Formats: sequence, structure tokens, C-alpha cells
Amino acid sequence: MESENRRLRRQVVDLQCDNTYMRKITEMQDEIISLKQQIIDLKNENIRLSHLVSKTSKNKTSNQNNESSSDEEYYTADEGPDNIDRICQYCKQSFKYPSVLRRHLKLKNKCGNQYSKCFK
Ligand SMILES: [Zn+2]
Repeated sequence: MESENRRLRRQVVDLQCDNTYMRKITEMQDEIISLKQQIIDLKNENIRLSHLVSKTSKNKTSNQNNESSSDEEYYTADEGPDNIDRICQYCKQSFKYPSVLRRHLKLKNKCGNQYSKCFK
């Protein structure tokens, strides 16, 4: 009877131990669930931020496009759409803008020397 009692008591201790483990596991599961929720929140935040970033970079590129197109408009309005003004008469290289061609002809290269010979 005594041994049976002791056995039962040990079983109770074991069960309490199990119970503690079970509680710990449940706590860990709660922790996991809250971490999963955090991950979801962070993912949403990440998506929101990447949207913001892509928006900003889109704005930047569209601004750059606007700038370059307005530059082009400025040059075409100023110099006219005449393509000849953009091609070097010496090396036949074509330039994006007439001003670049003028700069090319002012350089100390083969074309620049010929150009300054003709116009001095
Ligand atoms: Zn040239």
C-alpha cells in the first residue's frame, strides 16, 4: 500500500512536470503566433515602404525625363530641327545637339584645327 502510494505520488509529480512542459509549449506556441503576426505586420510595412520607394524613384525618373525632354525642346526651338547643324562636316560624326558640335569644333583635334583654319 505504501509503495503504491509512492508510485502514485511519483506519477503526480511526473504529470505536473508534463503539465509544466505543456504550459511551456503553449506559451511558446503563443509566442510563435505573435511572432507570425509580427512577420505579417513587417511584411505589410515592407510592401508599403517598397511602394513608397518605387513611387519616389518613378517620380525621380519622370523628373529626369522631363528635364531631358525640355532640354531637347530648348535646343530644337533655339537651333531649329535642321539636322545638318549637328553633323561635323570634317569627320561626319553626328551630335545630339548643335551646341555639342560647336564644342567639338572648338576642341584641339583634327576637326577643330580645320574649322579654325577656315574661319580665321
Ligand atoms: Zn569632327
